[in-house]
Amino acid sequence: MYSKKRKIFGNLLTLLIIIAILVVGYTIYSKYNYNNYMKAEYIRGNSTFERDSNIKYSDMNSYKIENKDFNDSMFYKEIEVYPNTVYKVSCMIKTKDVENEKQNADTGAHICINKTLEKSVNVTGTTDWKKVDFIFNSKNNTKLEIGFRLGGYSGNSKGTAWFSDFEIESGVADTSNTWNYLCLLFNNVNVNIPTVDGNQHVQLHLTKQDKEDMRLCIQRFKDALPELSNGKIKANCEVFEVDDEIRTMSFDDENGFYVSPIDVQKTIDKYIDEGKYDHIFIAFRTGDINSQSEIPVNDWIGLGGMAYRGIGFSNIRLPNESNNYVYKYDTRVNTFPEEVYIHEFLHTLERNAEEYGYERPELHSYGKYGYKEERLLGLKKWYADYMNCTIKSPEGNIGLNAEIFTKKPAKITDFEISNKLNVLKEPENIIEEIKCFIDRAVQLFSGNE
Ligand SMILES: [Zn+2]
Repeated sequence: MYSKKRKIFGNLLTLLIIIAILVVGYTIYSKYNYNNYMKAEYIRGNSTFERDSNIKYSDMNSYKIENKDFNDSMFYKEIEVYPNTVYKVSCMIKTKDVENEKQNADTGAHICINKTLEKSVNVTGTTDWKKVDFIFNSKNNTKLEIGFRLGGYSGNSKGTAWFSDFEIESGVADTSNTWNYLCLLFNNVNVNIPTVDGNQHVQLHLTKQDKEDMRLCIQRFKDALPELSNGKIKANCEVFEVDDEIRTMSFDDENGFYVSPIDVQKTIDKYIDEGKYDHIFIAFRTGDINSQSEIPVNDWIGLGGMAYRGIGFSNIRLPNESNNYVYKYDTRVNTFPEEVYIHEFLHTLERNAEEYGYERPELHSYGKYGYKEERLLGLKKWYADYMNCTIKSPEGNIGLNAEIFTKKPAKITDFEISNKLNVLKEPENIIEEIKCFIDRAVQLFSGNE
């Protein structure tokens, strides 16, 4: 009798211990379980990744990243995509005390494609839950890593970010060959430039003549694109004068000072939010011979190849002297004043061609194929042959593949008809969770980490 009682008690105790272990195990598991996401941090040990059951947007525990010190950390998942397809990834983000290490860096809590510069807007400071959309074209990829990140490619952040309710949908890309150009004439530059002996304050303004020259060049650029490309590309240009000041400039050794998209982010965000534009030109001054003020640049008049939220971004610099003819039409001096606009936009197509997996010669390699700058016309013939893929080479004709003129940046209007996908769907019950756990274990043991 006595021994049997003890046996029942013993069994009960074992059962209770097992239940306790399971409960504790499950609690730990649900706190640290990131489902199929991989975790990564730039400086090891500066960040913690947890699931949060207190601060959450929906029933599901949120995904929390805390950067105790400045770091670039993210959790990401590889997904399969169809090439040449537009996608929109959305999630809810909440932040607490998110600060960036570098001023004017494109960093904070955001959604991105790992190992690329493509990303959404950032959430910084202390904010309540807000929805963030990230739009991109898969280009020639069949797999991409979608990341939810605190920090960024260009700098570190600290603070806490919570992510929840991940969604992905595919849309229908606009494949017309008409590109919409946003052309912003920045009336005012007002910057402090670091020099060997402290800071130099430079203030510059566009003159009435500058703005007339720009408007003429933009009109000529609009007409020149279909003309030079034999109708392969068409342009709509909208020109706005902007009174917001350019307050900061970026610097690199190759170019000296220039304006990066982040330097004028607040202004361009106002224009691109509605998803209308396929390319951005900004025109401004970096010097004025009359006022003897100058921001040092390394001999560039235009700068291209940059991108902001997937949209090509070019600098157009007004010369320091007003008697310079680079942007003026004159039958004896320059009959191709739109050249800088053409050149910088072609840098975007050159870059796109590469990202879409097309062969193309470098835009600056004209000398190699026997082209040179001509009086009055500059490199007009080179640009025409570049766009028409009629540059003679030992391997046959080369240049831009005609399809590149229909590959415009993904935009919000591409999702008016969209298709919800479930690749970012989280497990909703214990069965799905176990399946997810097994998938993850298989992934780890097969060395995909
Ligand atoms: Zn160039």
